Amino acid sequence: MPEKRIQIPAERVLFEVSKDGVAILDTTIGMKEVDGNMTAVCDMCSAAIGPMNNVQHIKSPEAISRAVKHGYMPEEMLRKSAEMLKSMGETNEAFISDIMDKTLESWIEMVDKSETPWALCENCHRAIQAYIKHKEVYK
Ligand SMILES: [Zn+2]
Repeated sequence: MPEKRIQIPAERVLFEVSKDGVAILDTTIGMKEVDGNMTAVCDMCSAAIGPMNNVQHIKSPEAISRAVKHGYMPEEMLRKSAEMLKSMGETNEAFISDIMDKTLESWIEMVDKSETPWALCENCHRAIQAYIKHKEVYK
């Protein structure tokens, strides 16, 4: 397959994970040129979702924000964060759950500031979609 260069909006979020939770250090937005055949990853859970030039599910930051306001939680991301704390030797469940609350808070703040479309895998798209639809049904 010939290589095809495509332009995608890229948002770089620089964040730091510590025992105080996740702190967002910097957010920069720009265009990035990538090989269209390169594998894209889900912006929500980092799962591989196929070639860049054929991403099935793209959501606007507004849509993600709306789903979050209706109770969507990035469960996969939280699960990975909890695992990371445990791998750092943390065993206090109450403490871990406190850190998870802070992590979620920081993540929601990041979603609010996000200005680029989100590429989603099948699972995350379905989860987000459920929360968006929920709103449409009950508004
Ligand atoms: Zn995903």
